[in-house]
Amino acid sequence: MAPALAALQAAGGTVRFGARLRRLVTQGGRVQALDFGEDAMALGPRDAVVLATPPWESQRLLPHLDVPAAHAPIVNLHYAHPTPGPVRFIGMLDALCQWVLVRPTGVAVTVSAGDAAAREEAETLGPRAWAELREAALAFGVAGDWPAQAPPCRVVKERRATPRHAPGPPLRPKRLPLANLALAGDWTDPVLPATIEASVRSGQAAAKALLR
Ligand SMILES: Cc1cc2nc3c(=O)[nH]c(=O)nc-3n(C[C@H](O)[C@H](O)[C@H](O)COP(=O)(O)OP(=O)(O)OC[C@H]3O[C@@H](n4cnc5c(N)ncnc54)[C@H](O)[C@@H]3O)c2cc1C
Repeated sequence: MAPALAALQAAGGTVRFGARLRRLVTQGGRVQALDFGEDAMALGPRDAVVLATPPWESQRLLPHLDVPAAHAPIVNLHYAHPTPGPVRFIGMLDALCQWVLVRPTGVAVTVSAGDAAAREEAETLGPRAWAELREAALAFGVAGDWPAQAPPCRVVKERRATPRHAPGPPLRPKRLPLANLALAGDWTDPVLPATIEASVRSGQAAAKALLR
């Protein structure tokens, strides 16, 4: 995030954290002002908005917008288990753990589209994932201790992590629903799955559309 903040500041931009956009004040197919509740920002004739909020929030702000109806969860497990390094990254097939990141500061597991994992209690999920990753770590000779007993683990379940990718053509919202407002966000660029790269591409497309 630091390079993005530096670029914005170098271009004369101000970054405000913790400022929730409550409402778009529109008139004649254009955004007139951004309503932040405690204050509002009026837009000049040459100002434009890139709205890069999650789909459900974009729809709250623009009620006629079609947005993905279903989302998929991502489950992360973070084990308090320091290792000597180097950093190792293990991918697993046909397993609960899809990606295992072994770092000196601890071991993390990522389960994408993890519907079943999101339903499971942390008490069983932690030991189950540990048994799998321990076997892989021992098989690959990953440096460190790999005790049979699972270390303390924090489970983070992000229930609306990504739009649910299903067969069939993805939803493609109009880039410019208002003359001076462009949509961005991973879900607006469905050429790629919902990833950081998709969100970057969407931001570039939004800027280009407004400059045109
Ligand atoms: C657990 C997890 C793991 C992931 N792992 C990977 C990975 O390894 N690689 C990868 O490429 N992608 C990964 N992703 C996906 C990636 O994080 C997203 O694709 C990307 O962050 C989407 O960027 P975005 O800008 O579209 O939306 P977001 O990053 O969701 O940003 C939207 C922003 O809008 C803000 N916001 C919402 N409402 C308002 C409002 N009313 N006013 C003002 N601000 C508002 C939110 O606070 C947020 O900061 C992961 C996602 C999750 C949840």
